[in-house]
Amino acid sequence: MRLREAFARIGIPEPWGTVAIRPVRVYGDPVLRRKSAPVTAAPESVRELVTDMFDTMYHEPGIGLAAPQIGVSMRVVVVAAVPDDDDGKNVGRPFAMLNPVLVSRSDDTTRFEEGCLSVPDINETVERPRAIRFRYTSLDGDALERDAAGLLARVVQHELDHLDGVLFVDRLSLVKRQLLRKRLARLGAAPRG
Ligand SMILES: [Zn+2]
Repeated sequence: MRLREAFARIGIPEPWGTVAIRPVRVYGDPVLRRKSAPVTAAPESVRELVTDMFDTMYHEPGIGLAAPQIGVSMRVVVVAAVPDDDDGKNVGRPFAMLNPVLVSRSDDTTRFEEGCLSVPDINETVERPRAIRFRYTSLDGDALERDAAGLLARVVQHELDHLDGVLFVDRLSLVKRQLLRKRLARLGAAPRG
């Protein structure tokens, strides 16, 4: 997930040491539309994937990345250091999630401009539940459950959508999607490489 406002507020750490940056798949690539498979092996087995995902996310830069965005159809997500509260004061740590699920969503919603590394150069306001509870397995194998509002709630919902083949542009109004139709078609037709 790419968020202009967020970058202005939050410093993204520079990658250091050996980094493995994988190409980000772009709108039109079928892997972005697939439902990803759960991680069934030991969490340790995806450590290298998670490292590459962090490297790729920081390089782009983004504040969240789901495995399908680098062509891996698995339920793995990484999230940068973002605030998890409504007033944006409580910045958490970067973390990785295996098999994340939304446990609950607030009835009230917020509108916020989103972008996506897989949908370059398009930023649109998306309405989503303001707060969520979610659970996941950590890379250490711990089952964790957390509450989030603010930017973290936004990023987690955006990234979990990726695991089910849903992109933020799918959540726009029909009218808005019609307006974007040509630009999206151009992305889908662009040569890869
Ligand atoms: Zn995205």
